[in-house]
Amino acid sequence: MRIGVAAVVVGLLATASVHSGLPAKGFALEIPTQPLAGCQYLLARFARLGPLCGSQRVQNHDSASHSGPAQTEITDEQLEAASLGRTVAVGSPSGERRIVRIPLEVYVARVLAGEGEPNAPDAARQALAVAIRTYTLVQMGRHRREGFDLCDTVHCQVLRTANDNSRRAALATAHRVLTINGAPAEVFYSASCGGRSEGAAQVWPGATFPYMQVVKDDDVHQEDMPWTLDLTLDELRQALARAGFGGGPLRDIKVDRYNASGRVERLGISGMRPDEVTGPAFREALGTTRIRSTAFTLAREGTRVRFTGRGYGHGVGMCVIGAGRRARRGESFEAILTQYYPNLRLTDLATGVVAPRERVPPPVEAASASGVLVSVPRDSKVSARDLERLAIAARESLSRVLGISPSPVTVELHESLDNFRLEVRKPWWVSAAVTGTTIDLAPAALLAQREGMETTLRTAMAELMMSPALADRPMWVKVGGARYFSSAPQPPASSSAVTCPADAELNLAISAVAQREAEGRAVRCFARAIARTGDWRLVK
Ligand SMILES: [Zn+2]
Ligand SMILES: [Zn+2]
Repeated sequence: MRIGVAAVVVGLLATASVHSGLPAKGFALEIPTQPLAGCQYLLARFARLGPLCGSQRVQNHDSASHSGPAQTEITDEQLEAASLGRTVAVGSPSGERRIVRIPLEVYVARVLAGEGEPNAPDAARQALAVAIRTYTLVQMGRHRREGFDLCDTVHCQVLRTANDNSRRAALATAHRVLTINGAPAEVFYSASCGGRSEGAAQVWPGATFPYMQVVKDDDVHQEDMPWTLDLTLDELRQALARAGFGGGPLRDIKVDRYNASGRVERLGISGMRPDEVTGPAFREALGTTRIRSTAFTLAREGTRVRFTGRGYGHGVGMCVIGAGRRARRGESFEAILTQYYPNLRLTDLATGVVAPRERVPPPVEAASASGVLVSVPRDSKVSARDLERLAIAARESLSRVLGISPSPVTVELHESLDNFRLEVRKPWWVSAAVTGTTIDLAPAALLAQREGMETTLRTAMAELMMSPALADRPMWVKVGGARYFSSAPQPPASSSAVTCPADAELNLAISAVAQREAEGRAVRCFARAIARTGDWRLVK
């Protein structure tokens, strides 16, 4: 049977840890911490343009061209005028709660100063400026709970002092963004695609970014040297065990499936539990600077395994190495953007109609005396009052069952699946996510098709309330415990034969079905353990 979103009773991935294979943020560039063969990298985060294989001569030529009189002295006033009245409220998530409101183009110039490689050709820097501006609009309001739009850390975008190059690139591309269906698109970057970019859905199953498709980029990668890595089966087993895989020893490893872009979609790891892993999760487990991309082949000889691959990074969206090379051979920033984002439109905010992506502010009545802060979409069928009532009821009954006093909780019901996914970075089958004292819920219509809002909220609430006491326990205790206390009919405690799932079975499940099966075992394990201990705090 084919599994559709609506047909699946979807499990709650009850963990606050970031699901492997999903980016920590939408715009993260995976940056090498060691040089690629023949290339020099600037060690940096985000989209600092680093890879400069064989480009020394061109760089010098390029930087010489920067000193022309027409290219100097762009002021903040000029950038502010080009911002069309748009501003970004930037705050720090911790420490002093200082919030600064910055004109959009000044903000772009400042982010670009931190992220752009100093000698990048103008066109590559301009393409990056457009992407930063687009990312900014998409993420606007991400921190509205704290009273600002974007933070100044790597969680959002880091700001530096703007320089001539970054101001010029911001002004040259001012108020131009990448759109899909009239709204700013979420854009991605990767260090090097190795010859073919990756479709977003391949890296993030269920990702709703249909415009991020496989793009051929061979013409700028012809001289790339492949990377290689040699590991023993035991070294591989150790890395997988650290990532939460159970079982062992690792008896064999092989690629089960390649996808359309030639990247590893799934590997068989016989002897481990689970015995399958997606390419991106495998790369994450081994270390993204060791397995530089999932565009690899492997060959086993006895207990040794040799990986040989192309490219660096997840490969989705703009290829930073490729963009630099294209700029050096004279391509414009428009041509570069068209190459890597063929399905997106370059839209001018001054003349084009761009639908706002601003997130919905929390309703005024949300801050109640109950200590439950709720936020619902505008025009939501579920009112803030209804959601608050559900949350309070769940918290009160759980606090009795668990013997915990109620503490403040924030519950946000998201208006769209995209919006929810942007916030929580979890696979598509996840309905709720708990982060600290906050619960993010998938859209109400989706919850109705799955387990229902009440059950989903109650499970998430149980996870939230139990998590401080269970912080050092395996995943199955947290997931199983949350489900055990959320479901009305409790599962029989007699299932003595059940094997408790390894962490990776719960947080690196390769499908919704596998996830649900592992969660089923987690709750049976929990039921068996609590029947013995009599106290949920002692389950381990
Ligand atoms: Zn942030
Ligand atoms: Zn490329």
